[in-house]
Amino acid sequence: MNSLEKLADIEPVRLSLGSKFKFHCHKSLKCFTKCCNRINIVLTPYDIIRLKNRLQLFSEEFLTIYTEPRMLEKTDLPVVTLKLLDDDTKSCPFVRDDGCLVYSDRPTTCRYYPLGVASLSHKEDTDAEGFYFFVNEPHCLGFDEQKKWTVREWRMDQGVDLHDNINADWTDLLVRKRSFPSNIKLAEQAKKMFFMASYNIDKFREFVFESSFMRRYEIDRATAEKIKSDEIALLQFGITWLKWLLFKQGDFKSRKLVVGQENRKSG
Ligand code: SF4
Ligand code: SF4
Repeated sequence: MNSLEKLADIEPVRLSLGSKFKFHCHKSLKCFTKCCNRINIVLTPYDIIRLKNRLQLFSEEFLTIYTEPRMLEKTDLPVVTLKLLDDDTKSCPFVRDDGCLVYSDRPTTCRYYPLGVASLSHKEDTDAEGFYFFVNEPHCLGFDEQKKWTVREWRMDQGVDLHDNINADWTDLLVRKRSFPSNIKLAEQAKKMFFMASYNIDKFREFVFESSFMRRYEIDRATAEKIKSDEIALLQFGITWLKWLLFKQGDFKSRKLVVGQENRKSG
């Protein structure tokens, strides 16, 4: 049984920011790095930016080498998970005997562990506000330790706040889509746009600046300059665009293209 199936069997106890727990993870525990095998890690847009920059890859290369596509349950939206090694260990490609090779750029899910986050989990109720739960894996000995935390303290200690702030609009988008009746499906093209703007940031930059995008929408000069040079600003711009594209939410302004305008430009 893999981690995903194990999780599906456990009804999560809902934790809030003030919930308390005892936990300490350190290298002298026998279980050290065991949690980095057979694990389901949904990557957020900001996770991908951090990791592809750490590995000095373009986003498309990172996606091809290190991720697998998946549909997030109840959303009908494509997400990506970290691709585990295709051998008996089924371990994360970044785990080594002495810990995580990309520790300072590790994904949001790894930072939260041993907590899970409802918004990135298939366990979320459609109408739920954000909540946390324990990923109860029997091999994890950290719960036998005496160090005390609240969920709020754990998040700060693990540097989750920065990740969550940058991903906030994207997470909202997932939650919003999840709240739609399941028979409302997105067109394939809309899903492709969601995938590109969310995960393939280098391709999205190309799309914004090298297609008719800038002529189709009213983008002021300062925004255009900013998103050209700042990946985080580009990501957040992309999510704002997706909200408008998928839900007509926000005030993203489109222009009508004159018929033949693109042909004249390219010809
Ligand atoms: S299994 Fe738990 S205690 Fe052990 S290394 Fe992983 S998080 Fe830490
Ligand atoms: S990215 Fe690091 S912390 Fe996360 S599963 Fe891989 S080795 Fe473990």
